[in-house]
Amino acid sequence: MTARVLVVDDIPANTKLLEAKLSAEYFDVITAHNGQAAIELACKEQPDIILLDVMMPIMDGFEVCKTLKSREDVQHIPVVMVTALDQPADRVRGLEAGADDFLTKPVNDLALFSRVRSLVRLKMMTDELRMRQATGRDMGLLSAPYDHAADENGSARILIVEEREEAARRMREVLEPQHRVKVEADRNDAIVSARGGDFDLIIVSLAMAGQEGLRLCSQLRSTPETRGVPILVIVDDGDNPALARALDIGVNDYLMRPIDRNELVARVKTQFKKKRYSDKLKQNLELSVEMAVTDQLTGLYNRRYMSGHLGNLLQDSVDRDKPLSFLIIDIDYFKSINDTFGHDIGDEVLRQFGKRIVSNVRGIDLVCRYGGEEFVVVMPDTDLTFAYTVAERVRQQVADVPFEVGTDDPLKITISIGVTVSEGSSDTPGDLLRRADQALYRAKREGRNRVVADAA
Ligand code: GH3
Ligand code: MG
Ligand code: MG
Repeated sequence: MTARVLVVDDIPANTKLLEAKLSAEYFDVITAHNGQAAIELACKEQPDIILLDVMMPIMDGFEVCKTLKSREDVQHIPVVMVTALDQPADRVRGLEAGADDFLTKPVNDLALFSRVRSLVRLKMMTDELRMRQATGRDMGLLSAPYDHAADENGSARILIVEEREEAARRMREVLEPQHRVKVEADRNDAIVSARGGDFDLIIVSLAMAGQEGLRLCSQLRSTPETRGVPILVIVDDGDNPALARALDIGVNDYLMRPIDRNELVARVKTQFKKKRYSDKLKQNLELSVEMAVTDQLTGLYNRRYMSGHLGNLLQDSVDRDKPLSFLIIDIDYFKSINDTFGHDIGDEVLRQFGKRIVSNVRGIDLVCRYGGEEFVVVMPDTDLTFAYTVAERVRQQVADVPFEVGTDDPLKITISIGVTVSEGSSDTPGDLLRRADQALYRAKREGRNRVVADAA
C-alpha cells in the first residue's frame, strides 16, 4: 500500500524518527513542524493520513485537528493524535476535536503500522465512494452530495464475545449509549449469534480460555455470513504472539488491556465506518449494473440491453420451438410536440408512454426504449396474430386516452407500430429488426396511427 503520510511535530527529531519508520515500510512521508504549516500542507498535498503531535507551541494539535475537521476539502483525511502516555485526558480532547485514532509516545511499530494501514484503507474506500457519488451526481442519478457528518453518528450493531462478565459490562457501558450491543460468553453461542445477527462489528476477547478466542476469529473469517464483518480483538498488554496470530488470521484491529475507553470508542467508530462504506460500495455496484442496462428517462431497459439479450431470447424460442414476436413502436409527429410544448413536456410524454406500454403487456415481455421516441417490445411464446392484437390494443389505448402532461389540454397522441415474428426459423436479431422496421415504415406511409404486421 503506497500512501502519503503527513507527520506533524514541533521537534525535528520526532518527525525524523517517524519518517524513517514509515519510509522503511514504503510510505511516502511529508513533514510539518507547526500547526499552521500542517494545515497548509494538508490542503495543498491532500495526504492519505495525518499523524499529529498534541504538544506544539502557538497552535496545539487539538486546534489543528479541529480546523482540519471543519474544512470541507480535508475533513475526510484521517487524523491520528500522537499523545503522551501519561496524559489520558488528551484522548478525550482529541476525540472532541474529531481525531480518528491515537498513538502513544514512544510510538510502538506494530501499533503505528496497523493504525496507519487501517485508516488508509478506510480512506481509500471513502475516496472511492466520494468519487462514485460525484459521478452519479454528474449523471443526474443521485441528488444528495456525499454526507460526511451522517457517517460520523450512526448506531452500529455490535457483538461482544467476552467470557468475563465484568469486562463485558464495562465495554457495554462505553458503547451502549450510541450503539446496540449484544454479549456472548461462549464461542459456540457467539458463532450462532454472529451468523444470524447481521452485525456491523464483532469484538473478540482473546483472553478466552486457551486458544478459543483465536479459533473463533478464524471461524468467523471462514464463514460466508460473517466474512465481511470487521473484527476487533482485545489482547493482554504484551501478548504479542496472540496479536500476531490474530492479525495473520485477518482481524481488522486490536486494543490492548487495560482498555482505554476513548480508544475503544475511536476504533469502533473507524471499523463501523469502514463496514458501512464497503456496504455502500456494494450497493453502488449493484446500482451501476442496473444503470448500465436501464434507460434513465423511462426506467425501461435500454437499447444496449435489448441488443445483448435478443439473441438469447431468439435462441431460446428456437430451442423450445415457440414463436417470438417483436414490436417496434414509434410516436407520430413527436417532433412537433417538442417544438410546440418544449423538450420537458416531450420527456414527460415519453415517460408516461413507457408506463402505458408496460401496463399493456405481460411481465415476461421485454420492453425497452430503443431510441428517442422509438420503443421495442419482445414477446416470447407469442405468435403474430396475438402480437398484432396486443399492438392494436396499445395503439387504441394511446389514441383514446390523451396524455396529462401539464399542458392546458391533455395531449392527443397517436403511434405507429410494426410487428413481426420469428417462427422456427434461422432469424438473427438483425432480421427481426429489419422486418419490424419495414412494417413500421409502411404504417407511417399509409397514414400513421396504425399497426402493420409483416409475416416473414
Ligand atoms: P414520425 O411521425 O415520422 O415518426 O415523426 P416524428 O416527428 O415523430 O419523427 P422524427 O424522427 O422526425 O423526430 C423524432 C423527435 O424525437 C426528434 C427529437 O427531437 C425527439 N426526441 C428524441 N429523443 C428525445 C428525448 O429524449 N426527449 C424529447 N423530449 N424528445 C426527443
Ligand atoms: Mg510537541
Ligand atoms: Mg416518430
